Amino acid sequence: MKSAILSVGTEILFGQIINTNSVYLSKHLNMLGIDVMYHYTVGDNPKRLEEMIKQAFTDCDLIITSGGLGPTQDDLTKEIAAKALNDELILNETAMQWIENYFKKLNREMTENNKKQAYMPSRATVFQNDAGTAPGFALEENGKIIICLPGPPREMTRMFDLKVKPYLEKKSQGTIYYKMIRTFGIGESALETALEDLINDQTDPTLATYAKEGEACLRIASKKNTLKEAKQSVENMLETVKERIEKYIFSYDDENFHEVVAKKLLDNNISISCAESCTGGLFSQRMTDIPGISAIFDRGIVTYSNKAKMDELGVKSETLQKYGAVSEETAIEMAEGLKKVSRSRLCISVTGVAGPDGGTEEKPVGLVYICAILDEKRICKEFRMRNINRQWNRNYSVLCMLDMINKLIERSI
Ligand code: ATP
Ligand code: MG
Repeated sequence: MKSAILSVGTEILFGQIINTNSVYLSKHLNMLGIDVMYHYTVGDNPKRLEEMIKQAFTDCDLIITSGGLGPTQDDLTKEIAAKALNDELILNETAMQWIENYFKKLNREMTENNKKQAYMPSRATVFQNDAGTAPGFALEENGKIIICLPGPPREMTRMFDLKVKPYLEKKSQGTIYYKMIRTFGIGESALETALEDLINDQTDPTLATYAKEGEACLRIASKKNTLKEAKQSVENMLETVKERIEKYIFSYDDENFHEVVAKKLLDNNISISCAESCTGGLFSQRMTDIPGISAIFDRGIVTYSNKAKMDELGVKSETLQKYGAVSEETAIEMAEGLKKVSRSRLCISVTGVAGPDGGTEEKPVGLVYICAILDEKRICKEFRMRNINRQWNRNYSVLCMLDMINKLIERSI
């Protein structure tokens, strides 16, 4: 099935908001095996919206719109969508009930214009909105489908996951099964090279690589008559992939690196503390994003200045003077000092030059030292980030920290 995504809203054209809906929809449609051919964006203008829909239907079977389902005057996606597929809006009792209940639950007065949201194309399959008032819908005619979703991302994504996905799964013939594999330590191009013959010969399953903020990801997807067959086909391919790149894989199920590492720490009951300089607490933040982490996460100390490194961690003044704050020696003393105060089984420290300024010939921006101690085992490594920008350096440093911890745990269990 070929599809187009149509984002409605003048604020997108003004550059006031980032069009995250189209990113989300593209990603999820692709995962369903639906090809996305176009992204269109149009303001709240009925004539141009109508033209866009017409144009998209010339070579697509499916249009998904987001935005403009609200109760105000400028919300006109529904009217235009209905018109495009020769239908008209009528009061939908079910939708009316949903909206009334929504206001009742919030104990809020329903305004007259909210009733407008209960008008739906007469032939539509309506989708309840459990995060807001505007219901969505799907409307079909002669093999063409238009699906209209609300604009607010929270409402749109929920509706897509809970209502639209099952609807589309029924429409597309066959079953798609896929695995999202995430790797660290191998670049996207190296990953592609390692799998080149598989990628070039692909029919089913299909392989696609993509880069994601320092990681390289791989999607293996298969479409077969039954889920069992599709699964088997993906699993077979995965075996071949594993033979080549297993050591870089940290997740077979699209988990974030920090989720994987936190789970291992929790499963093995390894307490952890961190002392951060250049990452400024980013590592602690990732760790504490995980519910239940308090069972093993003891503390995260941000020791940004030399003084803080001495006060909090007992880093020696001579070390800082002789080798500098960004050095293997300092990283080691930070981790050793942290071990003394926290007594965590795993202590990790990071110090580096995040940039954009502060780099020298000897210590360029992107130079980072990480020291990790697990029980009696200590490793300290030097990293040189690609220095795309400050944010990249910090994020990549955290990934390197996670990678070091992951390997340390693997070796100790
Ligand atoms: P409402 O009932 O809130 O009026 P709506 O379906 O009419 O919903 P819009 O009015 O078009 O939706 O958008 C509501 C808000 O949702 C926007 O102000 C914006 O914050 C967000 N939004 C809309 N479209 C997008 C998009 N494509 N990407 C990200 N955010 C969006
Ligand atoms: Mg609106």
